[in-house]
Amino acid sequence: MATLDTKLVDVVGDRTVKVLESAIGVKTVGDLLRHYPRRYVVRGELTDISALQEDDEVTILAEIFSANTRTLQGRKGTILEVIVTDGKSKLSLTFFNQAWREREMRVGRQGLFAGKVGVFKGKRQLSHPDYELIADGSDVDSAIDQFAGKYLPLYPATAKLPSWKIAQCMELAIGALDEVEDFLPEQIRQEHGYPSLKESLVTLHQPQDLEQAELARERLTFDEAFLLQLLLVVRREELRALKTTARVVRSGGLLDAFDQGLPFELTPGQREVCSEIESDLAASHPMHRLLQGEVGSGKTVVAIRAALAVVDSGGQAALLAPTEVLAQQHLRTLEKLLGPLAQGGKLGANEHSTQLTLITGSQNAAGRKESLALAASGDAGIVIGTHALLGEKVAFQDLGLIIVDEQHRFGVEQRDALKSKAETPPHLLVMTATPIPRTVAMTVFGDLDISTLRELPLGRQAITTHVIPVLEKPAFMDRAWSRILEEVSQGHQAYVVAPRISASTPENSDMDFLFGTTSAELSSVEELAPTLHSGPLKGLRIAILHGQLATDVKDATMQAFSAGEIDVLVSTTVIEVGVDVPNATIMVIMDADRFGVSQLHQLRGRVGRGTSPGLCLLVTQANAEAPSRARLDAVAATVDGFELSRIDLEQRREGDVLGANQSGTRSHLRLLRVLRDEGLIDLARKDAIATIADPEWAKHNLALAKSLALLQDDAASQYIDKG
Ligand code: ADP
Ligand code: MG
Repeated sequence: MATLDTKLVDVVGDRTVKVLESAIGVKTVGDLLRHYPRRYVVRGELTDISALQEDDEVTILAEIFSANTRTLQGRKGTILEVIVTDGKSKLSLTFFNQAWREREMRVGRQGLFAGKVGVFKGKRQLSHPDYELIADGSDVDSAIDQFAGKYLPLYPATAKLPSWKIAQCMELAIGALDEVEDFLPEQIRQEHGYPSLKESLVTLHQPQDLEQAELARERLTFDEAFLLQLLLVVRREELRALKTTARVVRSGGLLDAFDQGLPFELTPGQREVCSEIESDLAASHPMHRLLQGEVGSGKTVVAIRAALAVVDSGGQAALLAPTEVLAQQHLRTLEKLLGPLAQGGKLGANEHSTQLTLITGSQNAAGRKESLALAASGDAGIVIGTHALLGEKVAFQDLGLIIVDEQHRFGVEQRDALKSKAETPPHLLVMTATPIPRTVAMTVFGDLDISTLRELPLGRQAITTHVIPVLEKPAFMDRAWSRILEEVSQGHQAYVVAPRISASTPENSDMDFLFGTTSAELSSVEELAPTLHSGPLKGLRIAILHGQLATDVKDATMQAFSAGEIDVLVSTTVIEVGVDVPNATIMVIMDADRFGVSQLHQLRGRVGRGTSPGLCLLVTQANAEAPSRARLDAVAATVDGFELSRIDLEQRREGDVLGANQSGTRSHLRLLRVLRDEGLIDLARKDAIATIADPEWAKHNLALAKSLALLQDDAASQYIDKG
């Protein structure tokens, strides 16, 4: 008898094993049984032929209407034409030089036919389809009676391996299968009313009725959610067991000075998160916290306060920003708010003072050397930087806290690179650029504690967003430019965003994803700026900003814009996240259909950050029916970042939803969909937490511990699980 670990050679023939392995990558009985059917066709319920589309790869259930062989005109050979029907429409199947098939193509017989729908002389057809005729009584000796049931499973098949061949192998595997060890704790299984593992697998492949199959599928989906959550909560427990230096907040230091200099009151939400973080920092195990919040909710202040608390307690903090523009901005914000307290080391400095330093990729050698020395000696309490901070030469005296700003795809590898620079495991605060739905957060960052900032600071004005379809309403474009003129005349500033740098550069290559087909006439920063300067925005002070400019130019431009010396900044998405100039009130995004939903939401978050209302205009050449127009309408309709990120994620493939962080576990997720299966993930998380509440859980659930170990091995080999 076979177990899930039995090699396939023991249950199916050698040649089939080879095909199975190369076509769908399965080696064991368990692998095969986890190749799940996509859906079922009901015996006797014929597929609606009229609905088939040209070029579709289809498997259909149909009845043979006629079969005729004729010789080809002017050429050697024969052609067998079989017409199949669903009772209404017909479809032609053609076979060349296979007249012998005519014998089995008896009129009235049903079969599954698979192939690509083509059109020949106006008629739809499958040429050389794969097929499997269904046993119909006259086939008493049909060797494998896979079609005994009412429901015929349809598998994700390949050209080499049609769905019914897979079904035949399943039949053999299931026939040989012994009792299967069920790793799901019995109590959990019963609570949810789920069938056993073996029953679930068998039912899914050979259902007696569809409700049973649905329940089996739910159980197997739950299994995936449960194992994944178990992996994450176990990992979180392990992190909690690590020892690190407690960083207890001290009064009368930098943090207090910073608070006194703050030009505003913290919101209740900010205060709550700050105290969560302070108590995390004071613990003797490392903090692992994700801070997510609406654009403009004030995450930076929270992060800076955490950094200062650590400096006050004698340690250092590293602040990692996704772009140089943002790193520079953080440095300036800190310098401004700390004033003399950031002048440590200088003559006459305050006794509590520290130093700030910046490490970026484009620093000159001398600047780099100085920054490295400040970080290594511990003189710099806060080291701000881009990914250059991860470099090998960067060392710290006593790194107590790592803050990752505005990056929701910060990989475990990068975290590890930074962590390796600390004596004891540092505290970690990750801030996301985009709010993400709860279950995605739970899955992608399931080993982190999560804080959420939902409210915006008091007095913050709403952002109004409108779509400008230039092809339909060209006059609206002029109106957009005159709105900029109006804002500037009232002392405000504007952004104009374009999808590429110049006519000869491609669209921003680091854009999350691109939509639609390329249009020949996408706006570019370098073309737009002079056009605006000599045209609709004549007389205004216009500057450009993009990633390929020299660092000092970028920095000088941002500073000038911050200082109000520039009216209009024409830019690429380098300003997407984090850039904070409260006096900017209007943003015009050219070819807005080229950007993702969350990206647009981030971009428009650059305006309306002060006390004046913000306006965002989404310019598009897409026509009213284009899917991208629906996306733009969605962005215009709501300012709820959580809702938008959901819309955004729904358009991605599952792998992209989970991101690189989860590459190891991803391959184990066959059925689970993090957006669709929120309810199951919630339950699974609760069950996982309850399970490990028993310190001896592994002893009491041997099969479960074994399954988890397997997943951990895979995950570790894919970098998810490096301490
Ligand atoms: P994000 O969460 O998008 O990173 P920021 O941290 O950049 O947002 O904050 C956005 C703006 O709001 C900044 O100008 C910041 O100084 C300001 N801000 C933050 N907290 C408050 C507050 N409690 N009251 C008023 N303004 C605040
Ligand atoms: Mg920010």
